[in-house]
Amino acid sequence: QQKKIQSERVYDTQCPYCSMQCKMQLIEQTVVSRKQYKTVGKDNPTSQGRLCIKGLNAHQHALHRSRLKQPLKKVDGDFVPITWPEALELIAKNVNEIQAIEGKDALSVYGSASITNEEAYLLGKFARVGLGTKYIDYNGRLCMGAAATGANQTFGMDRGFTNTIEEIPHTRCIILAGTNIAECQPTIMPYFERAKENGAYIIAIDPRETKTTKIADLHLKNKPGTDVAIANSLLKVIIDHGLTDEQFLTSRTNGFEQVKQHLLAIDLNQTSEQTGVPVDQLIQAATIFGKEESGMIFTARGIEQQLDGTAAVRSFLNILLATGKIGVPNSGYGAVTGQGNGQGAREHGQKADQLPGYRSIENTEHRAYIANVWGIPENELPRKGVSAYEMFEKIDQGDITGMFIMCSNPVVSNPNANFVKKALEKLKFLVVADMFLSDTAKLADLVLPATSYLEDEGTMTNVEGRVMLREATFPVQGEAKHDWQIICEIAKAIGRGKYFSYQSAEEIFEELRIASKGGIADYHGITYDRLRHEQGVLWPCPTPEHPSTKRLFEYSFAHPDGKAKMVFFANESSPPKPRPDSDYPLILTTGRVMSHYLTGEQTRKSHSLAAQNVEAFMEIHPDTATRYNLKEQALVKIESAYGEIIVRSKWSTTIRKDTVFVPFHWTDSQNVNKLVSNQLDPFCRMPGFKVSAVKVSPVN
Ligand code: SF4
Repeated sequence: QQKKIQSERVYDTQCPYCSMQCKMQLIEQTVVSRKQYKTVGKDNPTSQGRLCIKGLNAHQHALHRSRLKQPLKKVDGDFVPITWPEALELIAKNVNEIQAIEGKDALSVYGSASITNEEAYLLGKFARVGLGTKYIDYNGRLCMGAAATGANQTFGMDRGFTNTIEEIPHTRCIILAGTNIAECQPTIMPYFERAKENGAYIIAIDPRETKTTKIADLHLKNKPGTDVAIANSLLKVIIDHGLTDEQFLTSRTNGFEQVKQHLLAIDLNQTSEQTGVPVDQLIQAATIFGKEESGMIFTARGIEQQLDGTAAVRSFLNILLATGKIGVPNSGYGAVTGQGNGQGAREHGQKADQLPGYRSIENTEHRAYIANVWGIPENELPRKGVSAYEMFEKIDQGDITGMFIMCSNPVVSNPNANFVKKALEKLKFLVVADMFLSDTAKLADLVLPATSYLEDEGTMTNVEGRVMLREATFPVQGEAKHDWQIICEIAKAIGRGKYFSYQSAEEIFEELRIASKGGIADYHGITYDRLRHEQGVLWPCPTPEHPSTKRLFEYSFAHPDGKAKMVFFANESSPPKPRPDSDYPLILTTGRVMSHYLTGEQTRKSHSLAAQNVEAFMEIHPDTATRYNLKEQALVKIESAYGEIIVRSKWSTTIRKDTVFVPFHWTDSQNVNKLVSNQLDPFCRMPGFKVSAVKVSPVN
């Protein structure tokens, strides 16, 4: 018999996980004097009311009993609760002591792509104006670095999608390069399924068979790390078959002739040998894409988290430009962002090299504009620091001795994770603001409790570049504070409060609007009021009257001459990727599973999600497993030159025989990032997560 619902309350919010930022509602019901909760989807232009399994169960982590509800100070290795005034006093004391002796740059800030635009903006300002340090970067460097740098260099600007997702069902051909959207951004899949129903030809490029490759008409199952070679060979075929758009190339691009000369010298048979993709498949993919009247290319971490990730992105963009499939209806590029605010978090100044509005920290005019907005002399604005992973190298070298980490778990998510842990243990003072006592928080001297997506109001910018308002109104848990409040209170404690006297997220957004005005990522025409009425606005939006930018590059690219820049990249990367050899004979690649998100710190707290995948695993072909004496479902040790882990073997006949796959959502002895090298992409400083050389052996 159904129990009577005594009362019901509905809270509007947005999913805290992926870049689709699906609108949702938490329904709180009181039944027999006990509260029960469920999450349902809410209609909006992108997710259209859909939610995936992660969103449906997101409240389970936000309401979890292990949420941090008061500040914790480490005393003799154990955490003890303290008050907020005590926590802030401790921070002020350590900041003053460290900076007095070692200088301002001894302190550093590590941010996140899961925080709101307001908080990303404020964290960048806090590092430069509050602490006065040049050392700030964020976890998006490990995620969006290559796509952002690639688009910036080719187009002159970086907004994830050049079109709205509404155009996807109407395109004629789609290339999905290294993206498993069916598991990573599930609610975008219906757009691709509708495209297929409408007759679109879908080409997937992925070393693995996934839920996404299943919808493809053609799957180029390449060796991991050979994406530049794939893109080059596709464009070579397009040129050889006379399928380029000469009028577009002449009027809208620079550099094609140089690219063409290099491509003419490429031997398709050699490319086929290098990539493992048959020549006829390369020709089929290229000619269909070249011949169709419209086409879109989507890239994600599969091709981007490589030592030549920027080169791979730019090589695929060359294909779009050579065929004139950009800036026109139903054609364009999409960098399928992973993290919830992967787009917005890279626009407002928490990157080492950037200021708000996607301005450059090394550009004199840009520096002067932002210094004026912030009310400081331009010469007090620090210069460029280093990328996320390189900050841990700076700690190891003794240059950085204090760090503030917000909403991030770098000890699990960074490459060469054993090294990162040792580096964090060397710090004199580590403060972590988080919802949970994550693996990183456990290393801290002080942990500050932060609010969840249910409680924290602010804007997020989704995968398309659509700015959306998350009106979170759920009561704050315990003494947790919003990330922006934490930043303001620390600034006040260290004597910089006059620059951080905000009373609401909206007040910060009003300053962000000014700071972004005239920049590439121009939010000046966007207001909370507008977002409430329009269900999101796509930037650039320079004035309140501006209608929102649904399609980029219709008339001009963002470089000063209005043209896109095409550049050729060689098939072999520099620095070279790890190669299998007699010591480490297999290629390891990594990725996600549908039920988990990032380091799993939140999703593993959800019993419904944890039940889907309780532990990490290594996908391996049965023939390869037999060669190394590995039984199905048995424990296996995986070793690289950087570390070792132990996970369970999972046989799969669909994975390449030279490759194994391990998802990255687990910690400790199951953290696959311990095996990843410390090498970085020379352009964007992205680590090469997707290719490691490993050996495997049974655990007896
Ligand atoms: Fe939507 Fe992504 Fe959340 Fe799933 S994880 S509900 S697709 S925002």
